[in-house]
Amino acid sequence: MSGNDALIIGRFQPFHNGHMEVLRKVFQECDHVTIGIGSAQLSHMGDNPFTAGERYLMIAEALRAEGYSNFYIVPVEDLNRYALWVAQVTSMCPPFDIVYSNNPGTRRLFREAGYEVRTSPLYNRNDYSGTEVRRRMAEGDGWRELVPKRVAEVIDDIGGVDRVRQIGESDDIRY
Ligand code: ATP
Ligand code: MG
Repeated sequence: MSGNDALIIGRFQPFHNGHMEVLRKVFQECDHVTIGIGSAQLSHMGDNPFTAGERYLMIAEALRAEGYSNFYIVPVEDLNRYALWVAQVTSMCPPFDIVYSNNPGTRRLFREAGYEVRTSPLYNRNDYSGTEVRRRMAEGDGWRELVPKRVAEVIDDIGGVDRVRQIGESDDIRY
């Protein structure tokens, strides 16, 4: 425990190049990083297609491919009760001192609980966003350049594009 351990939390649906850029910066500034996979219970839905385990694999593979090993990955389920959110996260994660988040609600909650909260710049946000990656998958546009190579391989292995397309289909069957 060095007093320089970070937490970053996101849904990572999927893990993309913007997340990778943030983590490169966090690894420069901190000794150890815990990556919380938020809304861990959700999968197979439009905004949340991938399971916590699949997202775990994407993140671990992408970071290992860049030579990082000083990280933990912890899935965290939603409580839907924000006053208890910090307790939920700390109960699941190894100890940390610094929280990296751009989400105003998350920043406020951790600051109220006494944590140091840092923001990171947004990298190419028009393209590097989970929403944009999922849109391109659904519409058949090129999405691979938006994610680390190992993430694209995991998505291929699990039939991710097919899943995103199918769960985006209407359930109106017309005869
Ligand atoms: P979605 O569009 O599904 O919400 P997202 O791209 O916002 O996906 P999240 O998992 O919701 O990804 O975000 C986790 C954290 O990563 C958030 O704090 C978010 O601000 C940050 N983040 C996301 N994209 C970028 C980016 N391009 N550059 C820097 N930070 C980013
Ligand atoms: Mg988001």
